[in-house]
Amino acid sequence: MRKIGLAFLPLLLSVSILSSCSEQKLFTKSFFAMDTFCSVSVYSLQNDQENLLENSETLCREFENILSKKIISSDVYKINQSKGNPVEVSDETIKLLNLSNKYMKLTNGAFDITIGALSDLWDFKNINVPPSDDKILNALKTISSYNIIIEGNTVKTINGSSLDLGAIAKGYIADKTAMYLRDEGVESAILDFGGSITLIGQKPTGDFWNVGIRKPFKDDKSALATLSVKSDKSIVTSGVYQRYFEYNNKIYHHIISPQTGSPTENDLLSVTIIGDYAADCDALATGCMVMGLEKGLELIESLEQFEAVFVTTENKIIISSGIGENKDIRLKIGRD
Ligand code: AMP
Ligand code: MG
Repeated sequence: MRKIGLAFLPLLLSVSILSSCSEQKLFTKSFFAMDTFCSVSVYSLQNDQENLLENSETLCREFENILSKKIISSDVYKINQSKGNPVEVSDETIKLLNLSNKYMKLTNGAFDITIGALSDLWDFKNINVPPSDDKILNALKTISSYNIIIEGNTVKTINGSSLDLGAIAKGYIADKTAMYLRDEGVESAILDFGGSITLIGQKPTGDFWNVGIRKPFKDDKSALATLSVKSDKSIVTSGVYQRYFEYNNKIYHHIISPQTGSPTENDLLSVTIIGDYAADCDALATGCMVMGLEKGLELIESLEQFEAVFVTTENKIIISSGIGENKDIRLKIGRD
């Protein structure tokens, strides 16, 4: 029996906007980009925020056009097609490759952007049967952070490596969009890029922002828990239920172990990382998903700027030590 799972989930994390300050209105624009549903919501005293929202969407698309491995004119596509020859790329691509490098090291290779050949095999849009062991073994030979050579603004990959920035680019683009909005004077806003939530400033009421952590595999998207943060945080979730198919009663999801070449099989269903920048949270969320609970928690505890919520295969919630009742990051079981 084969069953194909939900290809896209409208919103991984639902943001509760329960209250708004009397004068401030909330302006929202939703769009589909980066393979997911996105929305940008801005609190403002003005009557119209059309330009700001339109520009935010355009910015996202511009970044997607250079970072997506699926868009033919993108920097990443060109690197992947260049057969080991150096390719000149944008400053932004270089910055993101360098940031990725940092997280490849920090996670001990659990997060690895040279996963391209494997993610081509595990292409969740087009397959519903696992690839053969031979194909996986061949693809595994191309995985290594040492296969990315950066010199100035040129990049080449060696040993047949192919890049996939899917586990960090959405976060990076959220950071860029947030930066744009802040530069435009926005003091309170929510970016929701399919599981990657970025909160700008405080809620106009001064209340904490509430972000739900989804119950894995529940179609009703009910919240398992609610995270509350005071201001200016990114909250990024990586979860096995975001993209998957079922084959012979087994679930194959989109988070791939660079060790085995197949979807990770450990004690975690999802990891939510809370930090100041979405790109870092994005990379860490994927990395921790691959590392499993013990090593993932150990990593997050070693990093002062990040907190995490782990959901285990038994639907247990484990939190890092910086989350707590009288702290700036709180967690409640269920929906707020
Ligand atoms: P995320 O939803 O941020 O966890 O990203 C998952 C996406 O990143 C997948 O759809 C793949 O394109 C890619 N990916 C899967 N496994 C890994 C991994 N171990 N390291 C880096 N990227 C990965
Ligand atoms: Mg990620």
